[in-house]
Amino acid sequence: MTLKEMIEQSDNIVFFGGAGVSTESGIPDFRSETGIYNTIKRYQRSPEEILSHSFFMAHPDIFYDFYKSTMLYLDAKPNKAHLALAKLEAMGKLKAIVTQNIDGLHQLAGSKRVYELHGTVHRNYCMRCHEAYDTEYILKAEGVPRCEKCGGIVKPDVVLYEEGLNEMTITASLNAIRKADVLIIGGTSLNVYPAAGFIQYYSGNKLVLINKSETPYDRKADLLVHDSIGDVLGAVVDD
Ligand code: ZN
Repeated sequence: MTLKEMIEQSDNIVFFGGAGVSTESGIPDFRSETGIYNTIKRYQRSPEEILSHSFFMAHPDIFYDFYKSTMLYLDAKPNKAHLALAKLEAMGKLKAIVTQNIDGLHQLAGSKRVYELHGTVHRNYCMRCHEAYDTEYILKAEGVPRCEKCGGIVKPDVVLYEEGLNEMTITASLNAIRKADVLIIGGTSLNVYPAAGFIQYYSGNKLVLINKSETPYDRKADLLVHDSIGDVLGAVVDD
């Protein structure tokens, strides 16, 4: 069965996406070889160390220097993958998007049910009084953003290393995957926690894997495509 046929015949598709979905919108993956190399060169630390909870608490200034320059891409636009998925949801075919990305591009494309496993750069809150702040506020702040109300440090609602994922988001994601007829996994090498574990919850026979490079789960796929996620989804949904 082709991807087009699977999509035509289903009204219960779930999409699970990784960094590759965002890189096609020009957002570089900090976990890529180049990302890691550049970070170590500039900070003498790995991105994982800088993006950890303990590092944030100890060195919020360095964290924010890295975060603002490497994690925030407010001018990025949804690409063909985002748009195709939003269209499938509007058609009643796609039930949910589970994403590891924090850029909010799915919502910008029009998707409604998006489970953001790693949080989002678009929500930020004061660690002391919980006042909410938008991303502009973070960007404009000189150094560490501070709460206007109480002076507390403002933290992005992004899941840092050492921090747990949101329970409700996990539960909703796993429920969607468990019930899915077609599960499309795209733009992820499936090496990043918790992606690999999530696939186990899918029990159907239409597991679609779309990624430019090989993944450890290629053998498990019912349909395997080594190509750009935007090109593949764009082509299938457009005609
Ligand atoms: Zn505050």
